[in-house]
Amino acid sequence: QKEEQNLKDLEQRVQEYDLASEKPSQFKDLPLSSHLIKGLNESAFVSLTQIQKESIPSLLKGEDVLAAAKTGSGKTLAFLIPILEKLYRSKWAEFDGLGALIISPTRELAIQIYEVLIKIGKHFQLSAGLVIGGKDYKFEKERISKINILIGTPGRILQHFDQAVGLELSNLQMLVLDEADRCLDMGFKKTLDDIVSNLPEGRQTLLFSATQSKSVSDLARLSLTNPKYIGIKDTD
Ligand code: ADP
Ligand code: MG
Repeated sequence: QKEEQNLKDLEQRVQEYDLASEKPSQFKDLPLSSHLIKGLNESAFVSLTQIQKESIPSLLKGEDVLAAAKTGSGKTLAFLIPILEKLYRSKWAEFDGLGALIISPTRELAIQIYEVLIKIGKHFQLSAGLVIGGKDYKFEKERISKINILIGTPGRILQHFDQAVGLELSNLQMLVLDEADRCLDMGFKKTLDDIVSNLPEGRQTLLFSATQSKSVSDLARLSLTNPKYIGIKDTD
């Protein structure tokens, strides 16, 4: 009952949040659930970085975003926060299957994202999973259909899409492509196209990159809908 009311209030705060006039400085200024505020506090995240200020409000409202900002600028929270909040606000649960997919070019980066997610998402009842090359494929395959937020490397994700029985993609709410420039540099263009072609069109898509390049804009044109473009200069 109380939870219902909290969810309704939160949804209203998100709807009423005015992108043009609000200038969020701290996470508590944003329309976020108490579960997330708690997780952020416990992880000592208080103030937003520049890229987080520019992207999180629009992402909370459901927009597609293409964001370029250098390494170390805080892109991980810029996509993890909107994912947790969107799934929470839509009352996502285990049986709803895969709600968000995060693609990362390397195992190491995928593991880092997973660790941040586990930390800030501690107070949500959502399941998270990693699918990365070199780990036990059979083990991953058995668990994958119960995962709500999946993080993985391109090749391994596509392998699961092709082979996992019971992996339901039609409900997917959000796709994140992290380090898009690096994915392209590493030759994952075709794999990314194949992954995206398996996903429902109504999803929200977030594309993050350390640099702006023509190949990244080309990828964005194919996978994003009316995206907001955010470029944070190195001097910021
Ligand atoms: P990027 O993906 O842009 O390279 P990361 O998301 O890995 O950057 O963040 C870089 C570092 O900054 C990490 O150590 C992270 O914990 C820290 N960080 C990110 N956002 C914040 C924040 N809002 N407040 C304090 N530290 C932050
Ligand atoms: Mg990063």
